[in-house]
Formats: sequence, C-alpha cells, structure tokens
Amino acid sequence: MRVLIVEDDAVLADGLVRSLRQSGYSVDCVADGLAADAALTTGQFDLVILDLGLPKMGGLEVLKRFRGRDGSTPVLILTALDGVNDRVRGLDLGADDYLAKPFILAELEARVRALTRRGTAAPSTVMKHGDLAFDRVGKIAELKGQMLDLSARELALLEIFLQRPGRMVNKEQMVDLLCQWGEEVSTNAIEVYIHRLRKKLEPGGVRIVTVRGLGYCLEKVQAA
Ligand code: CA
Repeated sequence: MRVLIVEDDAVLADGLVRSLRQSGYSVDCVADGLAADAALTTGQFDLVILDLGLPKMGGLEVLKRFRGRDGSTPVLILTALDGVNDRVRGLDLGADDYLAKPFILAELEARVRALTRRGTAAPSTVMKHGDLAFDRVGKIAELKGQMLDLSARELALLEIFLQRPGRMVNKEQMVDLLCQWGEEVSTNAIEVYIHRLRKKLEPGGVRIVTVRGLGYCLEKVQAA
C-alpha cells in the first residue's frame, strides 16, 4: 500500500510519515504543490493525503489536475478548521474525504484504512451492493434476484454509484462522467433520474442518500 503525503508543515508531515510507516504503509512525502503534481503524474499511489494550503501550487489545483488526468486514487484532503468552502470545493473536485486540522492521528489512520480498503476492491464484471447485483458487461441490474427495469441513464448512474460505494458523488461529477460516455445531461435531469432510480432501489433496501450541498451516495440499509 503506497501513500503520498502532501504537506508543507514539516512537523505534521514528519508525524504522519512516521505513523503511517509504523502501520505498514509505504510512504512518499512532498512539501509543495508542484512536487505533488509531478509525483502524481509519474507515480502510482493507493492513497493521497493532500493539504490544501501549499506553496507553489494550492492543493485544490493539484487535485483538479490529478482528476483531470483521470487519476482515480482516493484523495483525503486536510483543511483548516474554518475552511468550509475549501472542503466543499475539494469534494466537488473529487476528493473522497476530508479532515479538518487539528485532528487526532487515530482518526486520520481510521480514514486511511477505510479509503485504502475501498481502493483495493477486486474488479469484477458483477458489482454487488447488499441485495443489488449489477452486471456491468450485460448492463443488467438485479435486486433480490429480480431483474430491475431501468433506463439506460438510470443504469449509467447506478454504475457510477456502485463504483463509489459509500462515497459522495455530486451532480456536476455525474454530468461529467455521463459526458465522458457520450451522454449529454443537465444537472436538473440528473435529479429526475436519481429520483426514479431511488424509487426502484428502495424496496430492496438500497438507499441513495442525499447530503445537502455535497451530493449523493449509495448506502445499504442494514437489516434489523
Ligand atoms: Ca499547509
């Protein structure tokens, strides 16, 4: 498991490097945005821990460039405690999680574990989420063994969610992802498709959760 830490505060960076190495991660560390951009262009990482306030190039710009090159590695951003706007902007740009400074190391480690687990899911043609199974080759979705009647766009959105279980996806990201597949959709249309998809999934205990201002994510309703 290889982690890239981007942090210009030497004391904090040192603490993070030591703690993650002790937990068995292989850790690279850079202290400015340009070095981070270069490392992400050439290296392969399983997780990026990215401070936003960085010399030479800000963390948000690093993130934007990385996702712009289709970098799919999970990114955990470190933000100032009052940096709500940065946080929202970071999630909009494709960060997977954030931690506000100051944080306790144990919390960072828990988030690192969660994000690296997600990153290592074995690729398979059938994606499963609770009672939901989706065959990405055949484009067939089944809920509790019953085939779901979904439109092409509902299937496309479902696939987007299934590729990011428990992770937030916002409408702009969905529009971008659908555009990459040659679809042209407005953010308003996304709302309509999500509404329909949600109604079809809920009877099977699979929920699409809305987090106001941040986006949507797929959540499995735990059986009582
Ligand atoms: Ca900083």
